[in-house]
Amino acid sequence: MLEKVLIANRGEIALRVLRACRELGIKTVAVYSTADQDLMHVKLADEAVCIGPASASDSYLNIPAIISAAEITDADAIHPGYGFLAENADFAERVTDSGFIFIGPEAATIRLMGNKVSAIEAMKKSGVPVVPGSNGPITDDNNRTLKIGRDIGFPIMVKAASGGGGRGMRVVEKEADLLKSIAITKAEAKAAFGDDTVYMEKFLGTPRHVEIQILSDGQGNAVYLGDRDCSLQRRHQKVVEEAPAPGIPDNIRKEVGQRCVDACNEISYRGAGTFEFLYENEQFFFIEMNTRVQVEHPVSEMVTGVDIIKEQLLIASGEPLRLRQENIEIKGHSIECRINAEHPETFIPSPGKIEYWHVPGGLGVRMDSHIYGGYTVPPYYDSLIGKLITWGDDRETAMERMRSALDEMVVDGIHTNIPLHRDIIMKDYGFSQGGVDIHYLEKILGID
Ligand code: ADP
Repeated sequence: MLEKVLIANRGEIALRVLRACRELGIKTVAVYSTADQDLMHVKLADEAVCIGPASASDSYLNIPAIISAAEITDADAIHPGYGFLAENADFAERVTDSGFIFIGPEAATIRLMGNKVSAIEAMKKSGVPVVPGSNGPITDDNNRTLKIGRDIGFPIMVKAASGGGGRGMRVVEKEADLLKSIAITKAEAKAAFGDDTVYMEKFLGTPRHVEIQILSDGQGNAVYLGDRDCSLQRRHQKVVEEAPAPGIPDNIRKEVGQRCVDACNEISYRGAGTFEFLYENEQFFFIEMNTRVQVEHPVSEMVTGVDIIKEQLLIASGEPLRLRQENIEIKGHSIECRINAEHPETFIPSPGKIEYWHVPGGLGVRMDSHIYGGYTVPPYYDSLIGKLITWGDDRETAMERMRSALDEMVVDGIHTNIPLHRDIIMKDYGFSQGGVDIHYLEKILGID
């Protein structure tokens, strides 16, 4: 078993990891920037090390500082959380080369999945359904490119192999625009990601975003923990997530889940991970894999009873996975609202001092947050200040609980997007029916 884990992150996920460590009797090391000494997990950790100034590039992305902190505190493993260095293969490699355990997959796996072209290739080998596309990078042979384009059928999406965060993608409506769009996307990809490899994919008009959570020990044991629907997005950022994804036939969910498990075994995947899909006309199409824990992992925990972070820690200890697919049962329904420090209408970030903070409670209500009354939200990082999660026997009960919990919640001193959740999303007829597509939220908000 691990003895001491360094948490290379901040905010709610750092606290979430700390709690899981404590329950397993693992000591914790917090690392923090000079702007973050008041973070809850910094106060609760067994040890805390300041790793640099406020700017993330000098602190939470500062690999030598994080490795040094692990050395001086004699930690044996590093949990990267999500964001920051969580999907940085060079970091994973440095951690391992320095003699620590990286809580996640091997660097080579992160690299394989970090390139969308190689990820799609690997998925196809295991029978994971992918979006019809160019089957590899676009070459300089324009006639070939145009022919592939015609075969896929327009509209088409041109995507950067190294793209991420919703960047490096372009929709092409007609053949006449294809070569020009490819040239622009290549130039942008080169500038943004240092890699101008691009590929083509069919553009799906009204898909849902449905993802499969997996746990795999890299020793031949893998399970999927059902699916999640994260279609409610604004600018490709998820706003509300739920599990299970409404209205997906059981046989289709089971089939895709099994294919994801097969893929984990094929690539000897180690740790928690997510296969992201677009879902349209009762078909799943793989778009990418996240080789880390995700913000929305709690909804899967609520419906399966599995503590995903604890399982990550156990897998990193070298334990074979204890879970078996036949024992994983999806029970009830769970919804998560991301609470952001931002104006509910303009979405402008709203850092500052939280004068009063009241969190709802009761059966089936969970709040994952690092916030407390009197805490000041710094302006330097992501605006996520908490995740309100509800569970119920069915979707309607989970929604009722969410409405009631949102009504009860009080945050004074800064703006939050609670009104967006409470007054718009949770009252929306379309959302209450379940199964809306990825454009739905922007449509009801009047954003084109
Ligand atoms: P990133 O790594 O930048 O997040 P993804 O490949 O996950 O990129 O795509 C991000 C979003 O872009 C998806 O959630 C979806 O909204 C949209 N998208 C990606 N591929 C397609 C496609 N083939 N057709 C339609 N929309 C797509």
